[in-house]
Formats: sequence, structure tokens, C-alpha cells
Amino acid sequence: MELKLIKIPDHYNYIAAFLTLACNLNCSYCINRYGTEGYVKKRLTGEEWVRGLNRIISRDDLPLTLQGGEPSLHKDFIYLINNLKPELHIDILTNLQFDVEEFIKKVDPKRLRRNAPYASIRVSYHPEQMELAPLVEKVLRMQDAGFSIGIWGVLHPSQEDIVRKAQEDCIKRGIDFRFKEFLGEHEGVMYGTFKYEGACSKTFTETVLCKTTELIMGSDGSVYKCHSDLYEGREPVGNIIDPAFELQDIYRVCDAYGRCNPCDIKVKTNRFQQFGHTSVDIKDAPGGFKVKSGY
Ligand code: SF4
Ligand code: SF4
Repeated sequence: MELKLIKIPDHYNYIAAFLTLACNLNCSYCINRYGTEGYVKKRLTGEEWVRGLNRIISRDDLPLTLQGGEPSLHKDFIYLINNLKPELHIDILTNLQFDVEEFIKKVDPKRLRRNAPYASIRVSYHPEQMELAPLVEKVLRMQDAGFSIGIWGVLHPSQEDIVRKAQEDCIKRGIDFRFKEFLGEHEGVMYGTFKYEGACSKTFTETVLCKTTELIMGSDGSVYKCHSDLYEGREPVGNIIDPAFELQDIYRVCDAYGRCNPCDIKVKTNRFQQFGHTSVDIKDAPGGFKVKSGY
């Protein structure tokens, strides 16, 4: 049965399918483990994902991001890429630990190209878990095969120099290398610029009204209010393969304020380049509207 289409609201900024939260690396600062790791382990098959994701009507400037964990660990990763409807642009967040030769053989680089100021395949570089040299070779191989690909390094305080040096080396080799802000705690300091003070502190919980601008889907197709709900396995608001699912752009009651994930309340620039945007809007947040930075 054809599922009813889902039109993404105009003010949405992100659509993400977390194909699995499992990963073949084990970074100490992994944001997926910010919460209690109570996330759902069940995975939709590639065919189920395709049915669910092909319901989505998005805009040209709003791709579907396949991510995780490590999305290539999903057994139908390539099937999925090759069977999503062409109108849906695809971005991939990966650590590139997969077989790039197989990927090059089976995926048309044009499928993953679009008009955007950044690469559609965004490779994360984690110096504590991987060597730069083989990663660079793999990225160059994909680039030569016609893929839009770049590397992102997290500016974690314990590895900032290594990541900055890696950028220099990559630029010399013709690779787009960008930095990602570190979000989370390190040696008792909270890093990141957040809109709601204390919301990620994990020291209290309060009930609030919260509304998102993102479509966040977990590995079993569950749709969540936010990253925190996904990572902690809280009750979803629906499922992308449920024929009755409709995207409701409303404030919802949340009794877990105080355990928000940095991804949800980090202050960033929206698609109109206006600073001050966050993924969620929280009504009457205890602590109020404050911008706080660990830097
Ligand atoms: S590669 Fe990414 S998802 Fe995997 S452990 Fe590292 S930070 Fe987490
Ligand atoms: S208040 Fe925090 S935990 Fe609750 S839905 Fe919003 S972002 Fe998620």
C-alpha cells in the first residue's frame, strides 16, 4: 500500500534518518552517548526505510541526511541510496570505514550531488580512533570517482592541535576539511553555545512545552521530538512507516527538560544565515533564554 505523503514544514531545517546508532569506532566524546544509551536497537530493513522515506516531500535545499552511529553498518545501506526517490536529495555522515571500492562500483556519484555550499558526503575524522593518511587516500579515491566529499574534524580541547594540523595537510592535498564545534563536557567544562542555560546539565528535570524544526527518525523508523528522546529511547511521537503518521508542527509536553542533548539546544545559524537559531523552541524554560559558551 502506498503511504500518504508527508510535506516537511517550510521552517524545518533538518531531516535525519539514524539508520543505526551502532558504530565501528568508539570515540570517547561521542555525542550519541551523551544520555543513558537507552536507545532502540531494532532496525528497519532497507525496503521499509525506502517506503517510509519516499513519503517525504522536502525542498531542494533540505536533503535527507543518512547518519548514525555509522550508517554504512546497515546491511541495506547501498540499496537505500539507490532506491530513494530522486527528488529527495541525500547527504551522508560517515566515518568512511566502509569499502569505498564497492561503494564506487554500486553508487552513481550524481545521485549524491546537489547545489550546496558543502559536500554531500561528510566524513568525520577522529584522531583517537583513526589514522589520517589512509582516510585521506580513501577520500581522494572517492573524490576522483566524482563524489562530493569532505572531512570534518571535531575541535575537541584534547586534540585541537592535531585536528588543525590535519586541516592543513588535507587542504594541501585538495580536500575540503572543516571544523565542527565540540559539544559536551570535558574536564568539568561544558563546551558549546546553548540557548537555554542548564538544559543539558542532567542535574534536574522539569516539564516544559517544546517544538522542533527537525524530523528525527530512529533506526526502527520512530519519529522523536529531539535527539535526546532518540538517544534515551523515550516515547516517540510516531513512526515513518505507520500509514496513520502525520507530521504535527506543534508544541509538545516534555518532562525531561534538563536532560536535553547539546545538538538540540546549541545556538547556530539558520539557513537564512541568521544567528540565534536552535533546533527546538522551548516555552517558559526554567533558567530562561541565555546564551552560554564554554569557550
Ligand atoms: S565515529 Fe562518530 S558515531 Fe562513531 S563513535 Fe565516533 S563520534 Fe560516535
Ligand atoms: S525539552 Fe529538551 S528533552 Fe524535552 S523535547 Fe525539548 S529538547 Fe528534548
